[in-house]
Amino acid sequence: MIAHTLTQLSRALASREISSVELTRFYLERIERHNPKLNAFITVDPEKSIAQAKAADERLATGRAGPLTGVPIAQKDIFCAMGWLTSCGSKMLANFISPYDSRVIECFNAEGAVLLGKTNMDEFAMGSSNETSHFGSARNPWDTERIPGGSSGGSAAAVAASLAPAATATDTGGSIRQPSAMCGLTGIKPTYGIVSRYGMIAYASSLDQGGPIARTAEDCALLLNVMAGFDERDSTSLDHPKEDYMRALSSTFDDKPLAGLKIGIPKEFFGEGCAANVMHCVMEAIAVYRRLGAEALEISLPNMHLSVPAYYVIASAEASSNLSRFDGVRYGYRAPEYGDINDMYVKTRAQGFGAEAKRRILIGTYVLSHGYYDAYYLQAQRIRRLIANDFSGAFGQCDIIMGPTSPTTAFRIGEKIADPVQMYLSDIYTIAVNLAGLPALSHPCGFSESLPIGIQLIGNYFSETRLLNTARCFQQITDWHLRRPAPFDDA
Ligand code: GLN
Repeated sequence: MIAHTLTQLSRALASREISSVELTRFYLERIERHNPKLNAFITVDPEKSIAQAKAADERLATGRAGPLTGVPIAQKDIFCAMGWLTSCGSKMLANFISPYDSRVIECFNAEGAVLLGKTNMDEFAMGSSNETSHFGSARNPWDTERIPGGSSGGSAAAVAASLAPAATATDTGGSIRQPSAMCGLTGIKPTYGIVSRYGMIAYASSLDQGGPIARTAEDCALLLNVMAGFDERDSTSLDHPKEDYMRALSSTFDDKPLAGLKIGIPKEFFGEGCAANVMHCVMEAIAVYRRLGAEALEISLPNMHLSVPAYYVIASAEASSNLSRFDGVRYGYRAPEYGDINDMYVKTRAQGFGAEAKRRILIGTYVLSHGYYDAYYLQAQRIRRLIANDFSGAFGQCDIIMGPTSPTTAFRIGEKIADPVQMYLSDIYTIAVNLAGLPALSHPCGFSESLPIGIQLIGNYFSETRLLNTARCFQQITDWHLRRPAPFDDA
């Protein structure tokens, strides 16, 4: 069962070869056995999941099922799910049972998918390693002494260890792509505005975007079909005609399926800072793409080096505003003892937020304050425009930009946590994409010392189908995406 893709699971359910209840029990049992080693899930609630699976089985029996009806899906703990603890990896929300569903959860419920559990993540999605989680770091199934990436580390660890066939995630600066790369999975961050942010706990609203993590590009297309769509409750949701992301995937496969595709290789991605083993695998993958008919040319994204500083100004500014709602009054944590109301705010926020969230609130408040706004915040917004312009220039020359997803393979737990700047640099290749609002995908392209390496494919706005189709062509002639970490390969 753990070798099945979503498409195969969907077929097995439709033909009644297996029931949703059996499938859900299968994964719940795996979670029970393996989660203590991985800490990938914050919450599992077998009773609730089985009830959903029973309903799915009834629906499957009537023939009114969709492709993901009855399929168990792990949900990042950033998505509000009615009746479920929705902690966002924070002590601040460690007692918050959501009274409503986010749009993404609504979409999966409407499809009849089963909510298998809520996955671990960096606190409020701030981090690149899952180590800022109030619940402790999730671990990488390829080496449990290492981080699974972040912030969607729990989702990636769960899928990599086959504790779930697929998971949702969110990406503000790389949190879908970087954990996918570090755990040997495929993940796509859609164009900003494609997946509704309603009920997705806000970190940096102009950058946050939900998306899937799965084994294959085809699985990601199936998931995106469920997740995407206009939602009037999110003011930045795009009223874009609904697409079938599986559409281009069904085309027949010939020798040179990517003939005519122009791949741009940004020279800025291959300089200092990228580990030799990562560079090697990415170059090999580009050679595979050329064998598939694509043509590669060098391009330049001259303002790339400004993306990390600009991001940390903008993301922190937005975070400082978004996190102001956690004040101990309406919901979530409240300090058990306090004097007057000001003291209550101070103690609640001092006790409820972890160090990284506090650091960002301080930076964000500072860059938005009178006298510094022009020097930092406005300047960062200008850089954001320059970066978006770099990309639009590049897409005049090529169709897809390729490079590494992460500069290194998964690092050891504890290795970078004391040095925030080193940690921030683990997103040097992913962050510019969020600043520009573009879609990008990461898929596995090799291993080094038994640790997975990912390649990033960046496309122009609304090019999700093309990205997925391109990755799928690669996955038809390679098998990196099918490898599973041995200790968890025990169906
Ligand atoms: N690592 C980046 C940060 O800490 C990105 C996180 C994300 O995409 N949610 O902000």
